[in-house]
Amino acid sequence: MSATTESGTAASLLPHLFPERKPMTPAQVTAGIEATLAVQRRAVTFGKRPFAAALVGPDNETVLLTHQSIDQVNHAESSLARLAYSHYTKEFLWRCTLFSTWEPCGMCTATIYWAHIGRIVFAGTNDQLYELTGPGNKENFTMDWHTKDFLKGCPQKDVEVIGPLEAEGKTVMEESDKYWRTTRVAAS
Ligand SMILES: [Zn+2]
Repeated sequence: MSATTESGTAASLLPHLFPERKPMTPAQVTAGIEATLAVQRRAVTFGKRPFAAALVGPDNETVLLTHQSIDQVNHAESSLARLAYSHYTKEFLWRCTLFSTWEPCGMCTATIYWAHIGRIVFAGTNDQLYELTGPGNKENFTMDWHTKDFLKGCPQKDVEVIGPLEAEGKTVMEESDKYWRTTRVAAS
């Protein structure tokens, strides 16, 4: 059997692990990204790179946990997903949302998937991040890789993805550029 024929298999076999998620309103999306951007802004003042993530509860409003990027292997989203999984049950996390200022990379998307968090919301894309980091940036060798493409390879679970977000992405880009412009390799 091909994996492409198994879409949603886990939910049909184990429905108790996939309780219904409350739909997210545009206002909740904007509020979640604003809360996450505040974490990113603070992280930069501590000398960290401009990435951040927030776990929002089943009401789509309560911020339960946040995480900044620690370093190049301890990203905000995967670190937060591991923390979330140690705090909460799968049933609970399926109704939660992981907000990220930037599109989760392959490592982070996989960790969110394994943590059983049911929804991802992100503002800026990896393409936009590459515009800011440029090539050969030792602080971030940005991937040409997209969250939704990665999840196509994970058909057993229907992890919802909201993003990229045009207006919020523009704000995240403008704020993040303050950091990245100081690290870009100048074109020769
Ligand atoms: Zn990552």
